[in-house]
Amino acid sequence: MAVPILSLLLLFISIKSSADHVTNTFIDCLNNRSEPTFPITGTVYTPDNPSFSFVYYAYIRNHVFYNSTTTKPSLIITPLHVSHIQAAVICAQKHGMQMRTRSGGHDYEGLSYLSYSNSTPFFILDMFNLCSVDVNIEQETAWFQTGATLGEIYYRIAEKSNIMVSLVEFALRLRLVDIAVEVESMGEDLFWAITGGGGASFGVVLAFSFKLVCVPSQVTFFDVKRTSEKGIINIAYKWFLIAHKLDNDLFVRMSFDVVTNRKGMKSIRASFPSLFLENSTRLLSLVNDNFPELGLRESHCVEMSWVESTLAYAGSWLEHPSRLYFIELNNLKEIDHSRSNQTT
Ligand SMILES: Cc1cc2nc3c(=O)[nH]c(=O)nc-3n(C[C@H](O)[C@H](O)[C@H](O)COP(=O)(O)OP(=O)(O)OC[C@H]3O[C@@H](n4cnc5c(N)ncnc54)[C@H](O)[C@@H]3O)c2cc1C
Repeated sequence: MAVPILSLLLLFISIKSSADHVTNTFIDCLNNRSEPTFPITGTVYTPDNPSFSFVYYAYIRNHVFYNSTTTKPSLIITPLHVSHIQAAVICAQKHGMQMRTRSGGHDYEGLSYLSYSNSTPFFILDMFNLCSVDVNIEQETAWFQTGATLGEIYYRIAEKSNIMVSLVEFALRLRLVDIAVEVESMGEDLFWAITGGGGASFGVVLAFSFKLVCVPSQVTFFDVKRTSEKGIINIAYKWFLIAHKLDNDLFVRMSFDVVTNRKGMKSIRASFPSLFLENSTRLLSLVNDNFPELGLRESHCVEMSWVESTLAYAGSWLEHPSRLYFIELNNLKEIDHSRSNQTT
């Protein structure tokens, strides 16, 4: 029995040292390939770096993959410059490493941070440092690097204008690694491939350009909640009938959770977080004429700027009104994860 165990141990040591060798030669390649004015060294995290786990888990948004059995990457590269991305792609090809590109980490299947082959080592190219947002109010456009979160984008636009927002449906152009590619000239197939299924197979997107659209300076947010089971059934049934037919400026969402009352009894709760792209004057008659079951009252309605409404949607505004602030990614450790997830 001792011999097989020894053999297994030796096999494990040999596989590990071969993997370490691939990683080390890969890192040498990265150092050789990166431009001396933009050294790559400080952007590479290996598993023995104390920050490795933090960087790895920071952008895992599907908690199913938040466990210790998933195969970990051999290293994580967090580029600060386009030459770091180029070096990563060239060296990955040269040393047989798989690359996973991660921007927000929201992929449901974890494609941006998991490997599906236990035999091929992989690394993550994590874009979170490349998060600049360049807003041009006159041209009504903005360039965002792919590491920027929606919260950062909305905040940067709101710094310049409280009547403009960006919507993902309005992508105009994108930069793929280091070339500017017009959407019109790159062909629909490549555009949809990159913005849709498995973008990383086609190249690394550095930045997108978006058209900004106008919103009113004041919008109205409300979040009606109901816990009576009978009431919930009536309201939910009516919501299914009318939500899609309501005024285009009104979005009424429905979600459910379980709450515990003072006696420790659990019950279902329906929430209707909603946004109206106007002040509240017309809202009350609009909702009460079409959806009286909701029981919307003036006291439910809060007028605010559009960017503040994004916080209200994330559940933060009504708890801490007026606390609109920007959190640098470098201070990510201090962010409450459940909050940050909802604004990315
Ligand atoms: C909790 C949760 C809520 C969601 N809510 C919504 C929603 O309300 N509306 C909606 O439309 N979708 C929603 N989604 C889906 C989500 O928008 C998509 O999965 C989207 O792809 C996430 O983008 P990401 O940058 O976070 O992806 P990532 O996980 O970083 O990457 C997704 C894919 O794109 C590749 N990729 C990432 N960055 C780049 C890059 N720079 N260049 C090339 N390829 C790249 C990755 O390798 C991977 O294949 C939600 C997902 C989750 C987990």
